[in-house]
Amino acid sequence: MDLKNLPPTIVSQLATMVENYISSSREKYAPDAVPLTDAQRAAMSPFFSSSVLDAARLCVLPGTRVPNPSMYSMAKMMGISNLPDFSDMAAITFVDVIVSHGEFTNALLFHELVHVAQYAQMDLKEFAACFVNGFIQGGSYEEIPLEKQAHALESRFSQGGGNPFSVDDEVRQWRAEKI
Ligand SMILES: [Zn+2]
Repeated sequence: MDLKNLPPTIVSQLATMVENYISSSREKYAPDAVPLTDAQRAAMSPFFSSSVLDAARLCVLPGTRVPNPSMYSMAKMMGISNLPDFSDMAAITFVDVIVSHGEFTNALLFHELVHVAQYAQMDLKEFAACFVNGFIQGGSYEEIPLEKQAHALESRFSQGGGNPFSVDDEVRQWRAEKI
């Protein structure tokens, strides 16, 4: 089915479910999450504000995987396919709690901190709506603007030879252009 034809009431229900999934996952993993190490903080401080670096918590899962949201069964019944498999992802960020399936590289940490910076500027409701609408309009997880921005900035970080830039400014500018 063409997702763009989904009725607005269904779209807002999906956004509410995503919102609930994010907040319940955050609560689930927060007790096991720890602040950045000094070395991680030093590597990230040319790019992120101290409020983002102070807020972020990291949780490396020991052998278990993040399960897919329970709303997936409903989404599949509605004909929505190519949903992202959470257990296959390197890491997932729930507001300020970053859950990883393996040890953090700087590139992975950078990518997920971009999401923390996005969450910090949007409330959870806006983030969830942006996520769902991005999926519907773009047709895949990779096309969600939140994800595209994180990938673009991660490439800039990886190829930038350490030249500093402000992720907060990038997120602010991106939101201003979007509205
Ligand atoms: Zn991402």
